[in-house]
Amino acid sequence: MFHPPVKTAEIMSKRCLVSSRILTAVLLLLLVMLLAGCGQKAAVNRTASNIAADQSTGQPVEQTGQPAGDAGTAGGDRSAPPPAPASIPRAEAEPAAAPPSSVSTSVYRPAAGGEKKAYLTFDDGPNNYFTPRILDILKANGARATFMVVGSNVVKNPDIVRLIVADGDGLANHTYSHDYKKIYASPQAFIADLNRCSEAVQAVTGQPVKVFRAPGGPQNLKPAFWQAVKANGYYSVSWNVVGGDASSTGVTAEQVYQNVLSGLDRVEKLHLTPIILLHDGAQLDTWNAPPGSPLGRYIESREAVLRALPQIIDLLKSRGYTFAIADQNTPAAW
Ligand SMILES: [Zn+2]
Repeated sequence: MFHPPVKTAEIMSKRCLVSSRILTAVLLLLLVMLLAGCGQKAAVNRTASNIAADQSTGQPVEQTGQPAGDAGTAGGDRSAPPPAPASIPRAEAEPAAAPPSSVSTSVYRPAAGGEKKAYLTFDDGPNNYFTPRILDILKANGARATFMVVGSNVVKNPDIVRLIVADGDGLANHTYSHDYKKIYASPQAFIADLNRCSEAVQAVTGQPVKVFRAPGGPQNLKPAFWQAVKANGYYSVSWNVVGGDASSTGVTAEQVYQNVLSGLDRVEKLHLTPIILLHDGAQLDTWNAPPGSPLGRYIESREAVLRALPQIIDLLKSRGYTFAIADQNTPAAW
């Protein structure tokens, strides 16, 4: 019988064991290195997809104090998507309307029965982010307002226009383009832009809108413009109380409320009907913008208006006002 030398076999067996242990260790090391590599890639992918998700919702993300444009660029990761486009709306340069040097109180036409009416007005929309929220606040607080709509935003948001009408709020014409250079080039250009806005609204509601607010205020209309406005059956509605929410430096809810309060005190002393100017604002490509940027301030000011609105409604109610919709019977602001 063949008996292999025990000693040699044991040595061979031990050598095999050592070799296999070394091989196992090397394989384990390779596996660990491989997994570590995959993990890093997965982490990068996760970061990128999170940013993409935030941008896809279009919802404001929690403010970290860091400009959103820097998110995803820390650590030199250039694979992250670029920050949301800074879609800055047309600059709203509507100044606080001031009374003319000699205020005539003869324009004050109190409603029959001594009912005190106030007009809440929102300019530059409609948009799909703030306008529906404003409608909800109005409804919840038993108030009504007039939306001075821009035709190009009407075309983008026909459903919001229908909501405004369904809620019993008012629509007025704020031109189609809101482009000062274009609309104030000539009386003909102004009327053409008003007509285009009216047609955009009529396509949605079936009704033209002949009551209008001139972008930037009626002081932009020279005599020839007034003649054209009258000849074409348009009726101007201005304002005499401002929220100050078009300020380029941004505004807080408390400032909006205080602006309205002081404006209301002033028009009451003059026995005028309050016509309050606020902004729901233009339709934007994004509602997420770096804090402190012009777009960020614009969005924050709109939020401030929403926070101040219930208080403003309460203020008007506490002084005995009912809420009216702007129309051809709306009294002159001054
Ligand atoms: Zn405007």
